[in-house]
Amino acid sequence: MRRVEDCNGVLHPKAIEGIELFNAKDFFEAHEELETAWKEETNDIRDLYRGILQVAVTYLHITRGNYDGAVKVYGRSLKWMQGWNDVCRGINVKKFRDDAEAVMREVERLGKDGIGNFDVSLFKPIQWNEKRLWLCDRCGTEMYEKNCKVSCPNCGNRFDCSDLNLYFD
Ligand SMILES: [Zn+2]
Repeated sequence: MRRVEDCNGVLHPKAIEGIELFNAKDFFEAHEELETAWKEETNDIRDLYRGILQVAVTYLHITRGNYDGAVKVYGRSLKWMQGWNDVCRGINVKKFRDDAEAVMREVERLGKDGIGNFDVSLFKPIQWNEKRLWLCDRCGTEMYEKNCKVSCPNCGNRFDCSDLNLYFD
């Protein structure tokens, strides 16, 4: 079971680069950056990086018309993508999983012979920190951020985001 604490805090800088590349549909480079983040990270969050990188590889296989490769790597990714909070380190994991599922449904519908007709507009970007989503490490409630003060509407837990500015523009 994943712990709520693993989902608090910031993403590894290489994971952020990986997500940005993923969102630019540069799945090969996204995979490289996420792999670095996965290797350098010691917290369990590395499993999530691994899951995202395998989805990036899955999408890469799809763009290259490799049906078997896509199905195989997607199957491997599932284990790493499960058990997280819906929002983890600012990543909307639930939406990401749903998007990947929709992609794979379409891949299976097209089949091996039709994968060349895959519509790449089905590759949806990873939604992350756009709304600066945080989850309370005490109660798991979504926290609000205002002027760099992050507070929990449920239990009153709060922290300051000033330590985290390194990772934001
Ligand atoms: Zn709370």
